[in-house]
Amino acid sequence: MASILVIAEQYKGSLRKVTFNALGFAKQAANQLGLDLHIFLGGSDIGGLAKELQGYGAKAIHLADDSDLEVYRTEPYTQAICALASEIDAQMITGAATVQGKDLFPRIAGRLGAGMASDIVEMLPDGTFKRPVWAGSVIARVRVETAQKVVSIRATAFEAPKQGSDQAKVNKFNISLEEADKVRVEDMEETKSERPELTEARVVVSGGRSMKDEKGVKMIESLADTLKAAMGASRAACDAGLVPNELQVGQTGKVVAPELYFAIGISGAIQHLAGMKGSKVIVAINKDPEAPIFQLADYGFVADMFKVVPEMIEEIKKRKGA
Ligand SMILES: Cc1cc2nc3c(=O)[nH]c(=O)nc-3n(C[C@H](O)[C@H](O)[C@H](O)COP(=O)(O)OP(=O)(O)OC[C@H]3O[C@@H](n4cnc5c(N)ncnc54)[C@H](O)[C@@H]3O)c2cc1C
Repeated sequence: MASILVIAEQYKGSLRKVTFNALGFAKQAANQLGLDLHIFLGGSDIGGLAKELQGYGAKAIHLADDSDLEVYRTEPYTQAICALASEIDAQMITGAATVQGKDLFPRIAGRLGAGMASDIVEMLPDGTFKRPVWAGSVIARVRVETAQKVVSIRATAFEAPKQGSDQAKVNKFNISLEEADKVRVEDMEETKSERPELTEARVVVSGGRSMKDEKGVKMIESLADTLKAAMGASRAACDAGLVPNELQVGQTGKVVAPELYFAIGISGAIQHLAGMKGSKVIVAINKDPEAPIFQLADYGFVADMFKVVPEMIEEIKKRKGA
């Protein structure tokens, strides 16, 4: 039977949460299209992760466990996935449009000669896909005309399904990765942070250009730490060199959808909203009552952040201590 292949994502031996959002989409697509669900997981020493992928209705979990797949690289991953796709007659190859996904899926589509729909937020009953364009101000509906399709999903648009008790077959599949030598990663320097990863955090506290200087940044960091939240920022704050670029939320930054999002001294430009409007509850603090962020916020404070944020930190600490 033809199948849909989901590319699971792991980093340093832990599955990324977006994998489960991709499984949410794939289960729905498999039902709609009458396809078997298969999962691919690449990496080194990943056998232990298979059980976390059980219970999502997959027919098989394919583990490509190879030292050449330890660190993500386009060529060997593409080679392994395309080999599996032809083995299991994958009509659709899908996964999250993460930084890795944005690199990997177009390459897979290119190699297979398949059409691709990127960053989709919905699949309609007629098989077309909805995807936001122009920072989410337009929703395009696209049809992929090739029989085999590559589809990357916007993880924040799909719920992770509940884990059931069904058991998939675990297949350790080996291929010789001739393409592993095309590019080698010499070393990786990671930014160390005690805070949760921005795209996976339950709470995100973001500051804008209005942080102004190190003192303002420290204030926002302090609120983030009090709430055990990830820190985010507007592009203007990143461009001003206040915080590193990897904290940028928005159209050209990261897309987040936490349970609680704080936009502090952020105007609410459409490009910023594109990265956070899927958040469950949005709290905005801005001294300008006309700031566009208030149109989206669930709770808004028209106030000077330098006054209210320290008060909030103190109050939260007091309540936590109580
Ligand atoms: C192609 C393109 C892509 C882009 N991608 C992104 C993106 O990914 N992410 C992104 O964020 N932006 C992006 N931008 C930039 C975006 O258009 C805005 O310029 C940016 O989001 C503004 O950041 P900001 O709100 O921090 O700054 P500002 O627009 O300067 O707003 C600062 C806000 O802080 C408020 N404020 C000032 N002082 C205080 C205070 N003491 N207390 C409370 N409030 C205060 C002001 O009232 C104002 O609303 C992009 C732009 C383009 C053209």
